[in-house]
Amino acid sequence: MKPRECRAEVTAVRALTSDVIEVDLTVLEPGDFTFDAGQWVSVPFGPKNVRAWTMASPPTRRLLTLAIDVSPGGIGSQWVRALKPGDPVQFKGPTGGFVFNRADGRRAVFVAEEIGIVPIRSILTHLYETGYGRPTALIYWARNPGWLVYDADFRSLARRYPGFSYLPVLREPPATWRGEKGEPAEAVERLVYGVDRLVVYVCGGGETINKVRDVLVKKGMDRKSVKWEKFW
Ligand SMILES: Cc1cc2nc3c(=O)[nH]c(=O)nc-3n(C[C@H](O)[C@H](O)[C@H](O)COP(=O)(O)OP(=O)(O)OC[C@H]3O[C@@H](n4cnc5c(N)ncnc54)[C@H](O)[C@@H]3O)c2cc1C
Repeated sequence: MKPRECRAEVTAVRALTSDVIEVDLTVLEPGDFTFDAGQWVSVPFGPKNVRAWTMASPPTRRLLTLAIDVSPGGIGSQWVRALKPGDPVQFKGPTGGFVFNRADGRRAVFVAEEIGIVPIRSILTHLYETGYGRPTALIYWARNPGWLVYDADFRSLARRYPGFSYLPVLREPPATWRGEKGEPAEAVERLVYGVDRLVVYVCGGGETINKVRDVLVKKGMDRKSVKWEKFW
């Protein structure tokens, strides 16, 4: 689907945490707007500003949900903080190749660094709600539990689908934490043992993407089998 000029309206704004805001958009034009899970839109605002934001919701929902970390505090974050229901939003999209290929017979592991979870949430929600029966795993890293913004969704997904392994990882775990600890690449090193017939999808910052890829390549993985989306 080629990117198109679109017109939407803000339907709801929710603060998931003090730094992460979900924005629901109703697309008014074109009426047949659709996207592949994992894709993003570019949103122009102000005189000459534009930012890329990814759909957190699966394509099967009528509303588009964006999930935005406003802690960087730049003009995009400020613009998002000021959004309210009824505001008009223009965007161009959908764009992006960080999408899941169902025809690929390899085992898939997803790795997210904090808000890098957004395309992966859309992909995994869509896969399981449309009857994807094969096993997948998600390694979801955050500095502390407050930054695992979709933790409850993935715990629920793991309860409903035994083939889905949810592996949250924290840098600063609370004393009661029974999950994984450490940095994203360390977790990948520990948790991914076989790389044969494996495809890995990583999203987050460039530094983490590089470290995760290096770990996997050292384990014998082909670089091209590590798909990535760099948010910052
Ligand atoms: C393809 C693509 C998809 C994206 N999708 C999302 C999304 O779904 N949700 C989302 O929150 N952001 C997403 N981003 C990042 C987004 O476009 C903005 O950069 C972000 O919202 C911050 O905007 P800003 O204007 O406040 O700061 P900017 O002026 O854009 O950035 C200021 C600095 O902070 C860095 N930065 C941006 N985001 C982060 C972050 N989360 N953590 C640490 N440093 C960061 C930038 O690289 C830059 O150095 C995406 C980026 C790309 C390229």
